Amino acid sequence: MIDLWYTENHQEDTRFSIKVKEHLHSEKSPFQQIDFFESDTFGRFFTLDGLMMVTQKDEFIYHDMITHIPMAVNPSIKRVLIIGGGDGGTAREILRYNHIEKVDMVEIDERVVRLCQQYLPQTACQLDQDPRLTLYFEDGLKFVQEANDEIYDLILVDSTDPIGPGEGLFTYDFYNNCKRVLSDAGILINQHESPYYESYAHEMKRAHSKIKATFPIAKVYQFHMPTYPSGHWLFGFASKKYDPLADLQKEAWMNFGLRTRYYNTDLHMGAFMLPTYVKESLENA
Ligand code: SAM
Repeated sequence: MIDLWYTENHQEDTRFSIKVKEHLHSEKSPFQQIDFFESDTFGRFFTLDGLMMVTQKDEFIYHDMITHIPMAVNPSIKRVLIIGGGDGGTAREILRYNHIEKVDMVEIDERVVRLCQQYLPQTACQLDQDPRLTLYFEDGLKFVQEANDEIYDLILVDSTDPIGPGEGLFTYDFYNNCKRVLSDAGILINQHESPYYESYAHEMKRAHSKIKATFPIAKVYQFHMPTYPSGHWLFGFASKKYDPLADLQKEAWMNFGLRTRYYNTDLHMGAFMLPTYVKESLENA
């Protein structure tokens, strides 16, 4: 028996590995290398260009934090745009709110969606099911450039890192267009990299400096993601008018009656309380 391991370089001299029971699928799409694996500890997981995207075991953390934070700040959100998110986890969570009227999801790579429907139904379960969801297979940057003004209340950027197809989603052009297509009460949540390892912290600072130059309110919040580099990951919260702490609608959110495994309204407050070294590097961004 040969031991099979999935190994990801988190730094030049630091690696993260998971013992693999089976390498289920491997293909190169026009955009990226896609692989699916089976493991004991993390269940099924998939990677793009050798970087971890989603595991069955910890996906609830990421998908709770990308969706429920903005919904608890503005519980009246009705029109949502998801950019990326091909595994379907973000769409699944946002569609749990019955009052959401429409969700447009723009994923550049149709193969990610089709393969997740086959191998990861846990996250992809709503992608062909809910009539409120429309899927577009195109570049998210181009989509927002062409979208009309103020047609969304919430944009969730569930993207890969700022290399390859995800690069355009970390630019001034993209953030300015997000601001334009958001309503006055709109919120933008974006994948914000990690503060710990230098190369990720560099991208975190670059993203933050652009978002705070674009939106009057730009905050960053944290969560624990066991399979991402260093396990310490961030989302950005940007808005034209809502402060994520002062405007938290605790009771309104609890009245939705959603059961969540990671998010709760106490954690909501704590997630924005950043360690000193993270605060300092964001202040200097
Ligand atoms: N949770 C994951 C993480 O942070 O690692 C992200 C998961 S999701 C699978 C990321 C998706 O973004 C990928 O499927 C990728 O194809 C998509 N994507 C990357 N660049 C994009 C772009 N410019 N427009 C739309 N989708 C994009």
